[in-house]
Amino acid sequence: MHRSIAGTLRAVTAAVGSVAALAMAVSAHADQRFITIGTGGVTGVYYPTGQNICRLVNRDQDTHGMRCNAESTGGSVFNLNSIAAGEMDFGVAQSDWQHHAYHGTDRFEDQGANPELRSVFSLHPEPFTVVVRGDSDIQDFEGILGKRVNVGNPGSGQRGTVERLMAEYGWTMDDFTLAAELPSREQGQALCDNRIDVILFTVGHPSAAIQEPIATCDARIVPVTGSVVQTLVEETPYYFDASIPAGMYPGQDADVQTFGVGATLVTSTETSDNAVYHLTRAVFENFDTFKGMHPAFQVLSPEGMVGQGLSAPMHEGALRYYREAGMLSD
Ligand code: GLU
Repeated sequence: MHRSIAGTLRAVTAAVGSVAALAMAVSAHADQRFITIGTGGVTGVYYPTGQNICRLVNRDQDTHGMRCNAESTGGSVFNLNSIAAGEMDFGVAQSDWQHHAYHGTDRFEDQGANPELRSVFSLHPEPFTVVVRGDSDIQDFEGILGKRVNVGNPGSGQRGTVERLMAEYGWTMDDFTLAAELPSREQGQALCDNRIDVILFTVGHPSAAIQEPIATCDARIVPVTGSVVQTLVEETPYYFDASIPAGMYPGQDADVQTFGVGATLVTSTETSDNAVYHLTRAVFENFDTFKGMHPAFQVLSPEGMVGQGLSAPMHEGALRYYREAGMLSD
């Protein structure tokens, strides 16, 4: 008798505890006060992108009560993993890795699909960019064989894209004299110090990471073309032909052909509808200001941003804004 009352009491206490925990979780969800955006290295375009989005969100803090903070990170794959682990609310990610994280394919095969991943909008194009020193004999992508190459830090988007392209060519890391894993902010200096011969970076243009070695050691951008790349572009929905337009950097007087991905902003179903709604609203209600915040945003249009390069379903909070603003038909 005694034991059964105690047992019942324990069960009731546990139930009350879990209801209270649930209520707290629901209210935290509804009243998200702080939101974080995972970006990339400070000399890339993701970092200023996150900073600019947060600047617009924080301008309206009186309306929604949220504070937005953008952090420098290892890049796309790191951001997708942090969102899946609940450590970050939003992240910038390449369209190829958004696709693979949602479907649990390629480098996300071991951890499996993340069905909670959600799209918010797409951003600037990111051409796959190969940079060599001014005095280099490398003229095309095949020319990087046998060289000292920065393949990117694990967690970066370019590291995954490099590996995908190498697999298409049938190459391994042993085909390079050195496969360095430097983060994007260190690779320009390493190139100019002659510690590496090649930078591989999937990034929007112009970017400080590319500008710096061009200014310091006369670096130049090498094209990435040919049948292997063409097959990759034709076989996958998230790779497309791209070019780095002439005049983007000093001394670059012709377009450079390559392939590329799109940068996208992603989140999780765990992020509140309210938070996603207000972030989306802050960007599109101030669209001209946003577009003026970085030269890589010049090509953006609201229609393109809700319709391209997004594999994961739209977050409900973003959909709410797009419907309200008449940007979607349904
Ligand atoms: N695309 C790169 C990545 O996913 C980052 C580019 C940038 O920092 O702008 O890691």
